[in-house]
Amino acid sequence: MNTLSDLSLSGRRVLVRVDFNVPMVDGAVTDDTRITAALPTIQAILDAGGTPVLMSHLGRPKGAPDPQYSLRPVAEYLDGLIDAPVVFCDETVGEAAEACIVGAPEGAVVLLENTRFLAGETDNDADLSRQLAALGDVFVSDAFGSVHRAHASTAGVADHVSEKAAGLLLQREVEFLTKALDDPERPFVAVLGGAKVSDKIGVIEALAPKVDHLLIGGAMAYTFLAGLGHSVGSSMVEQDRTDEAFRLIEAYKDKIMLPSDHVVAERFAADAETRTVEGEIPDGWMGLDIGPKTREQYAHVVEGARTVIWNGPMGVFEMEPFAAGTLAVAEALAEATREHDALTVVGGGDSVAAINQAGLADAVTHVSTGGGAMLEFMEGQTLPGLAALDA
Ligand code: AMP
Repeated sequence: MNTLSDLSLSGRRVLVRVDFNVPMVDGAVTDDTRITAALPTIQAILDAGGTPVLMSHLGRPKGAPDPQYSLRPVAEYLDGLIDAPVVFCDETVGEAAEACIVGAPEGAVVLLENTRFLAGETDNDADLSRQLAALGDVFVSDAFGSVHRAHASTAGVADHVSEKAAGLLLQREVEFLTKALDDPERPFVAVLGGAKVSDKIGVIEALAPKVDHLLIGGAMAYTFLAGLGHSVGSSMVEQDRTDEAFRLIEAYKDKIMLPSDHVVAERFAADAETRTVEGEIPDGWMGLDIGPKTREQYAHVVEGARTVIWNGPMGVFEMEPFAAGTLAVAEALAEATREHDALTVVGGGDSVAAINQAGLADAVTHVSTGGGAMLEFMEGQTLPGLAALDA
């Protein structure tokens, strides 16, 4: 895979697929992680004398313009972050977009309107891919959060450019994950949580042979415990996955760890009565976080690791009474990084939110901008947006 330094950028239009799919409320950006993550690449292009022409999707418009998903507010936000004029183009492709780019002052950054305003983006339409490619002299992909999608702006476009490369963010994401998965310092620990086992079966299967320990938390732990015949009360269980969960535990007994105690509640609510239980969960109670013993045990394993990959919260961390398990994992990753110079990678929207909430984003090696992309990468799947850069 080429990287930015393999391209000659001076005086050239550099079409960059970024991931500016940021959360917004009433037209205001509420979390700028993905925008700031793209800044090094944008700045490097400017420093090299190139003109960054940025494209991204935002939300899920249905292949036609929809003002609530316009990237204009993101352009305004970017303008406040970077020491260069930011020009927003109302069109994504075609003559108007071309004219907008040509009209941008020297040293400017250009942002095109939402790629998903165009029918053809999510179908990876060849004609649209060609139109996008025509807007740049070279193509740079820096949208790790979207490389698992075969869309025109993430994959198709790369077939119609002669020079292409990964941006600095994409390069970092791939390097850290590759190092962890292919050549980890040991002990290598994976921590997986979140709601759905079904999303993570493939990842567990791919990671289990590579790691020394695989810690499972979140609602998905209850599908495993139910599979082993434990009482889990009214905890969230994917009944159609319990056999698969049992098979995985049998195959990797010596590696997979499950919570031994739980913070339980009678209702799924922040003000519900809570208890800590060990072992079996009584009827009418649901597990909403790992318990204090498990917290300590998991933190101990993570703190002793030299490589850690974490995706998915240990409990319903959005509600304060059920956040301790997730925060303990966040702190343990920071501790491993500080004390053992461990390589620690956090991904997935919720784990990233938790690490930010704990104020520990700078205390781990890498906070990934990819959720689904990170999971698919760990599963060993071919990601269309990466494969397109190789071709
Ligand atoms: P996912 O999208 O699969 O990573 O799941 C993330 C969501 O799982 C978060 O919104 C958590 O609140 C939720 N979650 C974590 N633990 C539990 C639990 N024990 N019961 C119900 N939901 C949970």
